[in-house]
Formats: sequence, structure tokens, C-alpha cells
Amino acid sequence: QTEHKPYQPWVEHYPDNIDYYAEIDTTPVPARIDQAVKDHASRVALDFLGAETTYAELGDQIERMAGALQKELGIKKGDRIALLLPNTPFFPVMYYAALKVGASIVNCNPLYTHSELVHILKNSDADILVTTDLKLTLEKAEKLMQEGMADKLIVSHFPNALPTLKKFLFKIFKGKDLASLTDEKIKQKHLNWHDLLEKNLNADPVQIDKDDMAVLQFTGGTTGMPKAAVLTHGNIAANLTQIDLWGVDLFRPGATLAAVLPFFHIFAMTVCMNTPLTSGVKVAMLPRYERKSLLEMINRTKVSILPAVPTLSHALATAPEREKYDLSSLKIGISGGAALPNETKIAFAKATGGRIAEGYGLTETSPVLCCSPLYAPNKDNSIGMPLPGTDVQFVDVEDPTKFVGPGERGELVAKGPQVMPGYLDNDEANKESFINGYFRTGDVGYVDEEGHIYIVDRIKDIIICSGFNVYPRTIEDALYHHDDVDECNVIGVEDEYRGEAPIAFVKRVEGSNLTEEELNDFIKKYLSKIEMPREIIFKSELPKTLVGKLSKNELRDEYEKLKKN
Ligand code: AMP
Repeated sequence: QTEHKPYQPWVEHYPDNIDYYAEIDTTPVPARIDQAVKDHASRVALDFLGAETTYAELGDQIERMAGALQKELGIKKGDRIALLLPNTPFFPVMYYAALKVGASIVNCNPLYTHSELVHILKNSDADILVTTDLKLTLEKAEKLMQEGMADKLIVSHFPNALPTLKKFLFKIFKGKDLASLTDEKIKQKHLNWHDLLEKNLNADPVQIDKDDMAVLQFTGGTTGMPKAAVLTHGNIAANLTQIDLWGVDLFRPGATLAAVLPFFHIFAMTVCMNTPLTSGVKVAMLPRYERKSLLEMINRTKVSILPAVPTLSHALATAPEREKYDLSSLKIGISGGAALPNETKIAFAKATGGRIAEGYGLTETSPVLCCSPLYAPNKDNSIGMPLPGTDVQFVDVEDPTKFVGPGERGELVAKGPQVMPGYLDNDEANKESFINGYFRTGDVGYVDEEGHIYIVDRIKDIIICSGFNVYPRTIEDALYHHDDVDECNVIGVEDEYRGEAPIAFVKRVEGSNLTEEELNDFIKKYLSKIEMPREIIFKSELPKTLVGKLSKNELRDEYEKLKKN
């Protein structure tokens, strides 16, 4: 083990009003929610397509649901509750009720396939599965119950609660009619959400410690099946404190945050749900992202904070119909999940008058590690600085036991109270993922002399061309400089001569007739010869993951198929 003095140039250049060494409060989320309910009782906590829930109402529903979980269902500390839910007001109610009685949340993406859900439920050992009676989720839940994946099923009757939304929701989820449980045996194990609330039970207090598991968050899936990151109450609470310190007075009563990213993903869980709802902020929700609905919601609720993945910010800022809406309430876009092209940052500022702060993090880090300063100078293409209490260092990509020299490129490793203790029951992954007490992110980056951090790319996406490392992101940045490029994504494929070669996939802006030759000619000025893509393929849509990040895996599969035909 090498003796290493961490290189932390940001300390000297930290924003004036923020203390890097501030003590990080790790009071667990349930206590913070109780406090917010007291402090902001009459304020609106949730706006779901116009239907409002105040903090007092939210607190009451959480209390009653927690009471039902404890007294009707016998849920105890350490039990696990799986959520298969889109963004609805039920999500935070069930999430906070479960945490309050000491249970852990297992987040399931409603669009996961049956086998992915089986993998998650088997490995998480969930006692209860919670869903809605939308056709999409109920059918999946029923199949899982038939295979014995949970003991009980709780169903929230979605449209009954908000009848006026029925038509809208069916349109979004493409459900023709309400599915009803068909299996008699499952019907007996099924509980109606509203009946549970009606019981009007109060929960007995449960002691929650910082090291207790709050959430089991599955991640990856890019290499094999998803791994289960254990996030403790301390991890999640620490990140809320860190975000609050970094945001200074951003998350305060009076602000409205748009929750369009799905709550089951760590970015939205922390930034769109836990942070605002523990701070008295109003959360305006959409069950699923749709450009026009988002524009309407911004207009109607005067959204001031918009957390989003870059493709979403870009789509909003360049929407042809944007001028019909007043977007001037937007102060801050919080971008995360993937690299933010500079063009998107500029387009957002132009369309709204606000600005984008870029955050960086991973599921395993609850998630935020770095963010660009909100009120101090920040640099193009930088992910900003480490949040208070977070140390970020860089290690040799080939030999992670060695730290690289100041400012040199290396794998970003991180330490901090938001970093998970490890993956559940996975010694092998845990051994690989930590080095000298630091968590390995799998991303290559560097820090400049003023402490601003840059991500170059993911290690596993590097293309090795005739022995040189080619970073897809460099090529993507060059492509984004062209006005006719709406979205692009670059992958490495096998190449007879060079070992590997880059292939670019491009979605042109509507109406553009840009050719491969013209685009090649344009990007030549930004790229070295070896970085030039072997081929540019135009597509009308590029594949995205379920949170909206551009997906390289699907492109790799597509390209394989294309080649075979
Ligand atoms: P996930 O855990 O699925 O949310 O994915 C985390 C990964 O997203 C990181 O390891 C990065 O590769 C990528 N990522 C997140 N934020 C950024 C960012 N601001 N810039 C570049 N990559 C990012």
C-alpha cells in the first residue's frame, strides 16, 4: 500500500459560502420528514397533475400507512418492501412509511422484464410487493406473486383516487382497461391500499440507526444481472445534507421542483423526492416524461428547479413549441446521470434564462459526489467540485493501487459518508470495487489546479484503436458542435486493422439532410485521425435507458445484428 497524501486543490478554491469541512448531519430520513411535516404543514408537498397534497396530509398518510404496515402486516425492522411503482403520490407515502417502521426499500423499475424482476426479488428477499392497478404493473406483479416472489401484494387503486386523471393515465400507460387480479390464490394475499389507510392506525416508534439499511438499490446490468448496492440511512441522509450545503438556499419553501425522472432511480430518489420533501419544497410530478406535459407543468406550477438527464434538458430547451410557454420560472436545471454537452447548457440558458448545474454520481454513492458550483465560477465540461465531506482521488487505470500524479488522468475513486458500505452478499464485487478505502467508480477523469473535476469517459467504453485509447465522449463532443446533430452516441466495434474502431450513431435535428461526408468534414477539425469514426450511421431515434440516458449496449447489439444481415 502506497503512502499517499490526498491531492485536494478544490479546498483553496471552494465557494466562499460553503464549508468543505462542515460536519455532515446524518439524521435519518424519517425524522427529517416528521420535522418537515411540522414545519411546513400547510404548504403543498405534492402536485400530481393538479391534485395537491399538503405536508400535513402527506404526514398523516405516511403515519397511517406505517401503522398498517406494522399492525396489520406485522412488518418489523429489517423486513424488505419492494416497490413496483411509477411516480405517483403513493410512492413517497409508501417509501417513507416503510422507512419509518425500519423496513428497507427495494426499488423495482416498472419497465424491467420479468426475469430482471425475478432476479431482484429473489436476491432481495422481499416480504411485500407494492404496486398499482395500472395494467402494466399489475400484470407483472401478479406473475411475480404466482412464482412466490413475495408473501403479500399491496395494490394502490390508482385512478380511483384521482378519477379525473383516468383518461390521461390510460393514454400514457397505454392501458386499455383496468386489469384485475385473476388468480384466486393471489387475491387472498392481496391488500387494498385504501383499506389499509382507512384503518387509521398509528405506528409505534422504531429506533433507526445510521448503519441500518434504508434502500437496496440494484444497479448495472450492463455486465450480467444487476448488483444490489446497500445504501444505509446514514448514506442517504449524508447526501441530503451535502446537497443542502452545496445548494445553500436553493431547496427552500417557495421553490417548486419538477419530478419527471422516475423515483425508483437513485438520482430522482435523492434529488427529486428526498431533498425537496425534507426541505418544504413543492414537488410537481409527472407519472412519466412527456415533453408537452412537462412544458405545461412548468407553466402551471412555476417550476424553479428541474433535475434532468442531458437528453431531457436538451429536448426541453430545443422544443419547437417552447415559445408558447413561459419558462422564465426555471432558475436551475440540475443535470446528472451522463455527460452534459456544452451545447445543451447553452440552449437551456437561452430558452429559460436559468442555468444548468452539472452533478456527477453513481447509485453506489447515494448518488451525488460532485457538482458544479451554483453561485461561483464554474468551467465548461467540468462536473464541478466534490461536495462537502467528499474526497475524490485518481488512480492508475492499469494498476489501481497506485495514485496518479496531480492533474493526471486516472480512474476516479471516492470516499465520503454517502458511499455505500458494499454490495449485498457479493464478496467478489466488493473486493473489486474498493481500493485503499476508496470506492472505484469505473470512470476516467482528472482534476485541474483549481480543483474542478472532469470526467473523460467510462473505462469500459474506451475504444482501443491501434494501441491508442480513444474516448467516445471526445467524438461525441465534436459531433455535438454541429447544429444539425440532435443526439449522438459512439461505440467501439471490432476492426480488422486497428483492433477496434469507433462507430457514430447520429440523430439529426428535424428536417436536416446532413450527410456523412459533410459531418466527417466538419468533425475533422476537432479530432485526430485515429479518433475519426469509421462510419456514421443516421437514425431517427437513439436507444435510451429507462431514465433517459443514451444507451451504448443496445447500439452494440443493434450493430452486431446489422453486420450479420
Ligand atoms: P448509475 O449508477 O446507473 O446512475 O450510473 C452512474 C454512471 O453514470 C457513472 O459511473 C458515470 O459513468 C455516469 N455519469 C453520471 N453523471 C455523470 C456526469 N455528470 N458526467 C459523465 N458521466 C456521468
